[in-house]
Amino acid sequence: MPTIITHAIIPLAAGLALGPGRVSGGVIAAGMALAMVPDADVVGFSLGIEYAAPLGHRGASHALLSAAVVAAILTLFIRPERWRPAFAFLFFSMASHGLLDIFTNGGQGVALLWPFDDSRIFAPVTPIPVSPIGKDFFTIRGLHTLISEMGWVWLPALLIMLIGRATNANDRQKR
Ligand SMILES: [Zn+2]
Repeated sequence: MPTIITHAIIPLAAGLALGPGRVSGGVIAAGMALAMVPDADVVGFSLGIEYAAPLGHRGASHALLSAAVVAAILTLFIRPERWRPAFAFLFFSMASHGLLDIFTNGGQGVALLWPFDDSRIFAPVTPIPVSPIGKDFFTIRGLHTLISEMGWVWLPALLIMLIGRATNANDRQKR
């Protein structure tokens, strides 16, 4: 995984880029939580679940179908004023986790297509160093990972957010 903070940056930047007219603060917060939640599957290691098993790390919890199901349930639960954009945003938020993980250079690939296909997938290029898990995070390697993610994820996310906000401001002026 990239670090957990980096996963949350994606929905935050996307939500701010879209603006409050399209997605509310509450939905953005829910999206940030959903972007982090798939890595809760690391508890599987202490339960004796194999990394490569469907329920192992980067397995079912990282699948696109899981993102769709969780987003649908959450949308029903929070009953947003407009459910379609809220559902789309929540789906994107959780799906972004697995889609980001496929660009990391270590561990197993991601079971994006589970349960239809258990293959563990990597992107053709994997520039993001995989984040150390647990206490190893607070080491030089953890710091190195975070700095690399700032270049590969935070910076593009910031640019997308700024472009989105500028476009929104432009739209408002025209109206
Ligand atoms: Zn992950």
